[in-house]
Amino acid sequence: MPFSAIRLHWVKVPLHEPFRISNGEIAIKDAILIELEADGVVGWGEASPMAGSFYSEETPDSTWKFLCNRLIPDFFKRPELDPRRCSEWLDQYGEEPFAKAGLEGSVWDFAAKKERSPLWQLLGGSHRGIESGAAIGLMATLPELLGRVERFLREGYRRIKIKIEPGRDIELVRAIRQRFGSIPLMVDANASYRLEHFPLLEELDRLGLMMIEQPLERKALAEHAELQRRLQTPICLDESADSLEAIRNIIRLGAGRILNIKVQRMGGLWQARQAHDLARSAGLPCWLGTMPELGVASAQGLHLATLPGFTFPSDVEASARWFVDDIISPAIEVSAEGNISLPDSPGMGYSVDLKKVAHYRVSQEEFHG
Ligand code: MG
Repeated sequence: MPFSAIRLHWVKVPLHEPFRISNGEIAIKDAILIELEADGVVGWGEASPMAGSFYSEETPDSTWKFLCNRLIPDFFKRPELDPRRCSEWLDQYGEEPFAKAGLEGSVWDFAAKKERSPLWQLLGGSHRGIESGAAIGLMATLPELLGRVERFLREGYRRIKIKIEPGRDIELVRAIRQRFGSIPLMVDANASYRLEHFPLLEELDRLGLMMIEQPLERKALAEHAELQRRLQTPICLDESADSLEAIRNIIRLGAGRILNIKVQRMGGLWQARQAHDLARSAGLPCWLGTMPELGVASAQGLHLATLPGFTFPSDVEASARWFVDDIISPAIEVSAEGNISLPDSPGMGYSVDLKKVAHYRVSQEEFHG
């Protein structure tokens, strides 16, 4: 097959407001778009690490270097345009999951367009709407938080998730319960609690939450299992669920009852699909998380989220929720009922707006065979 080029576009899109979690914040969304062209068809992928190293070891800079210096040159030596085989090939690199997810995403989009099928079909999903949930970062004041909750409930989102950290937890949940009653509500601690906080987490347990996401450190699986035995509320693991091996250990130890599966962290759609299959066979429901990502990675994740084990609302929200602009057309929208419907067209179903890419681009690189 004539294989012509890969173009990388590093874009920076401002957020409407900074996104604060317990260990850092971002105000600009960095993403590296991968444009793969072969046989007259163009496939798009997105590598989407958070800026700064507070969330993961990988940063936009490390991802860019790994793509330019290692992954793309290696790919050109033996181009693999079958997405499952591409995923197996990528598995040899034990690092940089974001870079791998971006390159693999471009191969999936390419393959689906080539077959003239929607991406969900290649991934084994179905044509169904995906429930969308709103995620709210740590806000400066309680009235601001309550205002956001009110707005997202009005906009139809199917559940509300708030970020918490020690000292900013119980009173936030109580205030939301007092004002909005028994709405579908969950909290995400981003690994900020320790053993000494167990009594506090037991107090949270009495507030009817859908789940408590990643209360303890990433590697603290035995401690999560101990905490889960003490709580009625399901623990959802996010940061801990970073590989198939980690997910096997989560299941074996009973470290949580729900998984947040992120394509970027798993290193691609096929690894994420296998994470879904593992969880499903163990009876653990999942949902699809996000970094958050721009439209390309969000759309591809949504195709995966049509698989049957993704039973809780996704963290993927409308494009306009976070970004002053998105680089895909049409933008991702959430219906008044809180659902996202994917377009029917081949591939991911959204096109990339090259004018916007050029506007937000800070670096580019082109590779030829
Ligand atoms: Mg999380």
